[in-house]
Amino acid sequence: MTKSSGTILDGDSRPRGGEAQEGSSTKSSGTILDGTGREPRSGWETVIGLEIHAQLATRSKIFSGASTAYGAPPNAQASLVDLGFPGVLPVLNGDAVRMAVRFGLAIGARIARQSVFARKNYFYPDLPKGYQISQYELPIVAQGALEIVLDDGSTKRVGITRAHLEEDAGKSLHEGLGGLTGVDLNRAGTPLIEIVSEPDLRSAREAVAYMKKVHTLVRYLEICDGNMQEGSFRCDANVSVRPKGSDKLGTRAEIKNINSFRFVEKAIQYEIARQIELIESGGKVVQETRLYDPDKGETRSMRAKEEANDYRYFPDPDLLPLAVAEDFIEAVRESLPELPDEKAARFSSQYGLSAYDAGVLTASRELADYYEEVVRTVPREPKLAANWVMGELAAVLNKESLEVGSGRMPAARLAGLLTRIADETISGKIAKEVFEAMWAGGEGADAIIASKGLKQITDTGAIERAIEEVMARNPGQLAEFRAGKEKLFGFFVGQVMKATQGKANPAQLNELLKKKLPG
Ligand code: ADP
Ligand code: MG
Repeated sequence: MTKSSGTILDGDSRPRGGEAQEGSSTKSSGTILDGTGREPRSGWETVIGLEIHAQLATRSKIFSGASTAYGAPPNAQASLVDLGFPGVLPVLNGDAVRMAVRFGLAIGARIARQSVFARKNYFYPDLPKGYQISQYELPIVAQGALEIVLDDGSTKRVGITRAHLEEDAGKSLHEGLGGLTGVDLNRAGTPLIEIVSEPDLRSAREAVAYMKKVHTLVRYLEICDGNMQEGSFRCDANVSVRPKGSDKLGTRAEIKNINSFRFVEKAIQYEIARQIELIESGGKVVQETRLYDPDKGETRSMRAKEEANDYRYFPDPDLLPLAVAEDFIEAVRESLPELPDEKAARFSSQYGLSAYDAGVLTASRELADYYEEVVRTVPREPKLAANWVMGELAAVLNKESLEVGSGRMPAARLAGLLTRIADETISGKIAKEVFEAMWAGGEGADAIIASKGLKQITDTGAIERAIEEVMARNPGQLAEFRAGKEKLFGFFVGQVMKATQGKANPAQLNELLKKKLPG
C-alpha cells in the first residue's frame, strides 16, 4: 500500500507548497498554478474526468476459478480461460456482480436490471484472447454521484457516468529477462470495476479529492483492498482546457495508469500547463494517450487515442445478458455498512467535531473504529481524542509507514494516556513525553508516569514554594516586572516550570503567579 493511501494523514495534511519546486518539469506548473491549485492562469478553465479501475476483492477471477491473490510466481494463477485457449467458456463470478451492485447503491446510481458483456478487441501480448471482456452499451451501474470537499471547505457533487464490470489484462515484464519481454497472465481475468466520472472536475486538487473519496468508499464497502502499489486501484486522467466561460469541451489528452494520489496531482498539473502553453503559442492539443513519468515529472505522448469503433465492440456471444433480480439488489442494500459521509455526519453531531476532523477520522473504517474505541474510554473528551489521534499518533504512524491497525499503539493504551490528561495527573505537554516513551517502549501511561516521576504537581503549597524560590533568585527581573514590564510574566512561568521539571499544573501556576508577582 502506498504511503498516501495507507496511513492516516496523507498528502493533505502535509504542507504542499514545496512540492511544486521538485524537478525541472514543474517549472511551468509553478508559474501557472496559484498556491491552491484551484485555477490555472486566468482566462483558462481546466476540465478533468477520471476513469478509475478498482480490482474487486473476489477470491477467484471474474470468468474463471483461478485465484486472484497477488504475488504468485508468473503464470501460476492463469487457467485455460485466462490463457485464452480455444474451446473454453467464461463463467461469471457472482461475487463480482454483488460488489458492483454494492458500489452502485453506495453512489445512488441506477442498477441495470439487464446489462451486457461486450468484447473490446485489440492486440497486445498480455491479452491472449485478442479481446477484453468489458461492458459497453449497457453497464451494470449508471448515473451516480459522490460529494467531495474542496480546499475552501465547500462541497461539490461529482457525477459518475457509469461503473462497469470488466476483466483485467495480464502484465508484460521487462526486467531481469536479459533484454527479452516476459508475459505474466496471473492478473488476466481479475475482476475490475471501471468507474467513469463526468467531466465535472476543475483542478488537479479536485481530481485528487475525488479519487481519494472513491478510494475510501471502495474500502468501506470491502469491494477492493485499495492497494495502489500493487495496482489494485489506479486511474486514467482525461484532461482538457478551454477558454473561461466557454461551454464547449476542449480536446483532451488521456494520461494512463496512474497509481498514486501524488502522481495524479502532478501529472494533471503538468498536463494543464503543457496544454495552455501549447495553445497560447499557437499550437493545438491533439487527442492522444499519454504516460506520466514520475522520475521526470512530465507526461509523454504514447499513441494517438483510439476511438470506440477501433475496438469493434460487440456483445460477447459466450455470455448471456446479466439479469439482476430485485431481491438480490435489496439484499445487497441491506448489507451496506455505514458509509463514509454518514459516519462523518454522525461524528460531527455525536462528538461535536468539525467537518474537517470528522472527514479525516472517517477516511478509513479502521481509523474511525480506532477513534471510537478511544472515545469509549474517555467519553467526555472527544475533541482531545481527535487531536491526539490526528496529531501525535498520525505523526508517528506516518513516520514509520504504519497503519492504525498495526497494533503498535492499541486504542486502549492511547486512551489510558488521555485519561491521565483528563484527570489532570499530567499536563498536555508532559503527555507528549509520556507518549514518546509509550511509543518507544510499549509500556502503558501509568507505568511511565510512575517510573519517571512525571505526576503533575497540584499541591498549591509546593507550587508556591517553587515560585518564591524563583522570585528570590531573580530579583532584577522581579523589579522590572513590578515596574511595568509585564511580558516578563512568561519568563517566570518558564522558570517555575523548569524548577519543577515541567510538572507544575499550568492553570494553578498561572493563578498563583498572578497573585504573587505584583507583590
Ligand atoms: P473513452 O476514454 O473510453 O473514450 P469517454 O469518452 O466516455 O471514454 O470519456 C472517458 C472520460 O473522459 C470520462 O471520465 C469523461 O468525463 C472524460 N472526458 C470526456 N471528454 C473530456 C474532455 N473534453 N475533457 C476532459 N475530460 C473529458
Ligand atoms: Mg478512456
